Amino acid sequence: MGKEKKIIIAIDGPAGAGKSTVADKVAKKLGYSHLDTGSMYRGATFFLIKNKVPMEKEEDVLTELRKMKMEMRENKIFINGENFTPFLRTEEVEKHVSWVSSLFGVRKILVQKQKDIAREGGFVLDGRDIGTQVCPNAELKIFLSASPEIRVKRRFFQLKEEVDLDFIRKDLKRRDEYDKNRKAGPLKPADDAIFLDSSHLTQKEVVEKIVRKAREVIGDY
Ligand code: C5P
Repeated sequence: MGKEKKIIIAIDGPAGAGKSTVADKVAKKLGYSHLDTGSMYRGATFFLIKNKVPMEKEEDVLTELRKMKMEMRENKIFINGENFTPFLRTEEVEKHVSWVSSLFGVRKILVQKQKDIAREGGFVLDGRDIGTQVCPNAELKIFLSASPEIRVKRRFFQLKEEVDLDFIRKDLKRRDEYDKNRKAGPLKPADDAIFLDSSHLTQKEVVEKIVRKAREVIGDY
């Protein structure tokens, strides 16, 4: 029997759909690596905040980001040698991340990095533009969503109830609109993506569905 081919699995969808946790579990079940691309945009945003870079001007942002050496190690993110992982979900990052990730120059840097990381296959990537821009040739593309209210509740529990429900509701809506309507790498299902609505599924069920689909695809080689 030949060696099993390692495929690329792209999981895209709006904020709070559960992409990252699901992607991580799918990767573990298949013995693959997981790349959470949202954390890369969050890391770049925190780098700008930490260095007090005014966010208004694209040129200032890009000049600063050119000094950034980003490394991903076991889903922890290091920038210029420092572990940024604990700071990725702060309110300040939530506020600016959509703007930072809407800039063409920022996407150019990070999309190239993501393509380089996932060059070999055996990766599950989650984000907004994986199936359309980062890995348009991914063998399996999933567009994972859930109703807005369910996504709000999931985010609330993920943030350990430290943030107001109403704040999360407004923030998710604002980020979804921003991500959908931007010109660079908008949130959009690839033409060949499989839609999965997780509103009434447990996380385990979602993971099982994706793993089953992946095994079907792997079996085709
Ligand atoms: O997935 P997560 O909510 O952590 O992503 C944070 C932000 O990063 C999103 O709101 C989106 O603006 C941006 N993002 C992106 N492209 C990706 C992943 C995330 O623009 N591939």
